[in-house]
Amino acid sequence: MYYDQEVNSVFEELGVSEAGLSSEEAEKRLEKYGKNELKEKEKVSVLQLFISQFKSILIFILITASVISALLGEVVDAIVIIFTVFLAGILSFVQEYRAEKAIELLKSLTSPEATVIRDGVEKNISSNNLVPGDLILIETGDRIPADARIVKEFNLKIDESSLTGESVPVQKNIEALPSETPEADRTNMVYTGTAVAYGRGSAIVTATGMNTAFGELAGLLGTIERSRTPLQESLDKFGRWIGIATLIIVAFVAMLGVFYGFPLLDMFLWGVALAVAAIPEALPAVVTVGLGLGVRRMVKRHALVRKLPSVETLGATNVICSDKTGTLTQNKMTVEKICVNKQVLNVTGAGYSPEGEFFKGSDKVSTDDSHLQILLLGAVLCNDAGLFKENEKWEIKGDPTEAALVVAAAKAGLHKVDIDQKYPRLGEIPFSSERKRMTTISKLEADSGSFPLKGLVAFSKGAPEVILGSCTKIFLDGEIKSLSPEMKQLITGEVREMADQALRVMALSFHPLDEELFIENNSSGDFPSEKIEEDMVFSGLTGMRDPPREEVKVAIQKCENAGIKTIMITGDHKVTASAIAKELGILKKNDLTLTGSELDSLSDAEFEGEVERVSVYARVYPTHKLRVIDALKKKGYVVAMTGDGVNDAPALKAADMGIAMGITGTDVSKEASSMILTDDNFASIVAAVEEGRNIFKNIRNFITYGLSAHIGEVLIVLISILGWQILPLIAVQILWINLITDGLPPMALSVEPPDSGIMRQKPRNVEEGLITRREIAAGLGIGGLIAFQALLVLTWALDRNFSIEKLQTLIFTLVVFSEMFNAFNWRSDRYSIFSLGIFTNRSLVYAVLTTIILQLVVIYVPFFQTAFRTVPLSLSDWGVILPLASTTLISMELIKYFSGKSSQGKTKEKTNFD
Ligand code: ATP
Repeated sequence: MYYDQEVNSVFEELGVSEAGLSSEEAEKRLEKYGKNELKEKEKVSVLQLFISQFKSILIFILITASVISALLGEVVDAIVIIFTVFLAGILSFVQEYRAEKAIELLKSLTSPEATVIRDGVEKNISSNNLVPGDLILIETGDRIPADARIVKEFNLKIDESSLTGESVPVQKNIEALPSETPEADRTNMVYTGTAVAYGRGSAIVTATGMNTAFGELAGLLGTIERSRTPLQESLDKFGRWIGIATLIIVAFVAMLGVFYGFPLLDMFLWGVALAVAAIPEALPAVVTVGLGLGVRRMVKRHALVRKLPSVETLGATNVICSDKTGTLTQNKMTVEKICVNKQVLNVTGAGYSPEGEFFKGSDKVSTDDSHLQILLLGAVLCNDAGLFKENEKWEIKGDPTEAALVVAAAKAGLHKVDIDQKYPRLGEIPFSSERKRMTTISKLEADSGSFPLKGLVAFSKGAPEVILGSCTKIFLDGEIKSLSPEMKQLITGEVREMADQALRVMALSFHPLDEELFIENNSSGDFPSEKIEEDMVFSGLTGMRDPPREEVKVAIQKCENAGIKTIMITGDHKVTASAIAKELGILKKNDLTLTGSELDSLSDAEFEGEVERVSVYARVYPTHKLRVIDALKKKGYVVAMTGDGVNDAPALKAADMGIAMGITGTDVSKEASSMILTDDNFASIVAAVEEGRNIFKNIRNFITYGLSAHIGEVLIVLISILGWQILPLIAVQILWINLITDGLPPMALSVEPPDSGIMRQKPRNVEEGLITRREIAAGLGIGGLIAFQALLVLTWALDRNFSIEKLQTLIFTLVVFSEMFNAFNWRSDRYSIFSLGIFTNRSLVYAVLTTIILQLVVIYVPFFQTAFRTVPLSLSDWGVILPLASTTLISMELIKYFSGKSSQGKTKEKTNFD
């Protein structure tokens, strides 16, 4: 049962050593126990998805009506109707299937990872491949991937609220417990789905998959929320509204037809066909397709969307609050300056290579200097990063800030691997963004060479003001002296100077400990942290450079053009943050930088008065992010916020768009987010915003396209029946038009790439629905134009006494061609297709060509002529139809031209922040 056994016997029983399982053994166990997965709820099968395309009542009525008409002798009509409906079903099935696949892809990409030791080496593997006996490493922010028995821990606290509802994290330990201990009190176990709130440790997996104690309850990472988006909801409403209006019109027209002497059954069938064609039932599904495909494009640009509705939010985002380190900067730190014993030293060397020297001005400084040695010893011991050589290249492991210190120390001959072995770590108080410091305790041997330190020593590193706050002494001129206020001021001045040069400054200190006190407390597994982090000896400062990411400056400019404000939120020093923000173009002349404590001193009302002027928040805690979000939201902004730590989770949830870091982010932050950046790069947020805007624009455009087509069809039949008592199109022709207008062109329109103006417009107003008056006006305008073209053809045909079949063929073909011209209109609602380039959306060109060929088949191939009641058209007929149909494109081009926006690259609209 493991929790009632000592650690050693757990290792033994599960057949594992400190080196973890061997790969072969893990493989064998995976066969035996299966994957570490929870059984998913039944997925919708392909067949179900296919059948669901035909579940509409109207389709059902249409099929029934066709069967009845078949029984009454109109077999061909019935077959053609059913075939057309079937074809339309296949098309929408293909679209939905593609969208479904896109979403599944996201699921697989967001599946969680676990850190295990196998074959003696630390590895990251998909947590699905964990097996009982695996030795896993866990640290703050990790989601526990399987039930496991803890074998080592440093201040390990677990948030078990997902299982127990208890929000206070539980302190864990490794002590064996009595066998009767209930599950919830087994403090030496960790359970699937809970999260590490603090500290770290290692544990041996005892159960995986469905065998875990509470597995089923855990909300695991990787479940994409399939909630309906506001867009889909509003479209549902819109669709219903149009549906009712259409039904009334269609019923009216059909009754009129019967009144004028058309056979009842014919009119019924015709009416239902018209209703099927004109009611935009598929709208929400089509939107899902648009979203799904867009989401797939975003993956290529390093943004994983976890919640579909957030794609809409992205397009409306007008403030992006971004962390600095790693998102705006490269997170490739190098120590450039060191301040010890009242001297500032420059450190040479580039990258992670441990080669470099220390200079004071132009004089080389010996690395034997005891001040430098003590500072760097602390930097190496109070450190979890690693430096190693792979393929002739120096690589780092762990936090780059810490790695930079490891590299700097190695330049002075202090190699972490050796130092760690020599002076083992006995205790630690981990780093957290709130504490802004880290402390470890090591035992220095009596023979510790040039270090004037022996016995138990605590080493601390962290934000200068925090470390200085806990120091009462300083290591100066080879002695430990008391730290005078003047000296403190001198140090603060030096910190400022380094920060002004955009350096990230860290301070280091140490504290020789009273051995008795420590050992006594250690036996109870608890370190008296207050006693360790007080009365410390200041050893010096390090200043490291973290260059901005090259592409970020451009991305920030892009945001500015797009009416999006960028705000930097960082735990770093105010001066460092401001210097980098200026360099990146975030901090402008009249902008403010606010620190966490300055923010604390403002009332909500005061802060709301200032919030629009603040571009940089420095030295903030994750909780400050919530206040920033709150104030911005109150001002009506749509806020995107990045985060990576456990404590960022509330802010990620509170933001309109929570963005987690894929590489450095904790599991907990990822779960709380709406989107994950796979490259941690700010520029990818901007790319995602661009895609978000484009998806919205495309959806809006293909809906307007469909709307104009449907309005056109209904107007044509309404006016010709009312005015001429003529049926301008028969049922199968109406269905055919519906099939081809709703079929390929919208698919092609949904993959229209972003135009260059998309990031030069203001963000969309979230209050504004998808279908605004503008779209309805466009739908009515173009629909009216198509109807007008048809009526011209109708009167022309009547003048020439054409047969009714010829008249219908002419109108049928005219409408199809007019719709094809119309499809080009809706690649953009503002730019001319000549400015976009006719062939830049090849899918649309292919879609239109395919449709034209199909239409020619329908009017020239005898078999289809019978089915669709068409007659071949002559050249002179085409001479009338084509110019007329082309006016659909020409008139829209003229409107675009006269509204002055037809060409890309000319428009620059006012932004919210102008
Ligand atoms: P951002 O919030 O943009 O990621 P950041 O990395 O500076 O910036 P935090 O990680 O919260 O923010 O760090 C806050 C401060 O804590 C840093 O400015 C630094 O002084 C200190 N610090 C950072 N990492 C460590 C560490 N590993 N050990 C000790 N102190 C650290």
